[in-house]
Amino acid sequence: MIIVMKRNATETEINHMVAEVEAAGLKPTVLRGTERTVVAAIGDERKTGDLRKLESASGVDEVIPVLAPYKLASIENQTGRSVIQAGSLTIGGKAIGMMAGPCSVEDEEQMVATAKAIKAAGATALRGGAFKPRTSPYSFQGLKEEGLKILATAREETGLAIVTEVVSPEDVDLVSEYAEVLQIGARNMQNYRLLEACGRSHRAVLLKRGPSATVEELLLAAEYILDGGNHNVMLCERGIRTYEAHTRFTLPLATVPYLQAKTHLPVVIDPSHGTGHAYLVPAMAKAAVAAGADGIIVEVHPEPEHAKSDGFQTLDIATFEQMMADCRRIAAAVDREL
Ligand code: PEP
Ligand code: MN
Repeated sequence: MIIVMKRNATETEINHMVAEVEAAGLKPTVLRGTERTVVAAIGDERKTGDLRKLESASGVDEVIPVLAPYKLASIENQTGRSVIQAGSLTIGGKAIGMMAGPCSVEDEEQMVATAKAIKAAGATALRGGAFKPRTSPYSFQGLKEEGLKILATAREETGLAIVTEVVSPEDVDLVSEYAEVLQIGARNMQNYRLLEACGRSHRAVLLKRGPSATVEELLLAAEYILDGGNHNVMLCERGIRTYEAHTRFTLPLATVPYLQAKTHLPVVIDPSHGTGHAYLVPAMAKAAVAAGADGIIVEVHPEPEHAKSDGFQTLDIATFEQMMADCRRIAAAVDREL
């Protein structure tokens, strides 16, 4: 941490900062420039509590933290990228994870047909929501445990790992019985009790970025899960809220290389929620692979026009097959496998 003193800071004020830094357990070094004096505090500032409060002391201009506030998620915490293995899904290594399936689990026939088709096209996991957090209380809320049972049947039929959302801490144990990957939805990214409960689960977690959350807030949310002892966390960019209205959300693909520079956790892109229009999805999936994404999660349904949720952004099977073939060629070009 660096404490920048005001131009006219007195010796007493500088000495006071030196004493505060020592009291916090850090090692102070006073650097005197021609214009300003700076007090550098060496040590792990994350263990001291928030020292930005020192900005309120007299003679202090600015307090600048140096270390990222997330520790376990940080690239500095680990040599090499995390590779997560969850049933048929491997993510974070050379292989790109492809999670596909409908927004919601509707019935057994739909799920089994979808699972077989996406597996034949090369998907490595099946997605589908049984608990649906919907913007409107009048929208379809999901089949809940019945939906989980249908997902388990689809796994028995295909061997595909199941990715499904958990919306409340009380449901984490139940969803963990059925799914290899617990999805934490965008609306719940900062539901800290849910993050803690997922931190205690033995299942991998797909953590989606909140539409109004910064990347740092996403990493701090992941830190809750890691701190709970669960190291199998993947981060998902699914688009953020901007002033732009031509897409449902705005999908910032620079998040992929940025996160990979900051964290060892696998990075997944959701081009379905990120665009909100089926015709835009394949191009953004391809762009995500080119950008180095470790995984893609995409909505696919045998009949998108009859889907119970998010049909407008859902691919039919033929389009998914074509998207897979195209993504595969791009993956090869960037030295990845799909
Ligand atoms: C979903 O995956 O269907 C979903 C609800 O996603 P998000 O939480 O990103 O809106
Ligand atoms: Mn959806």
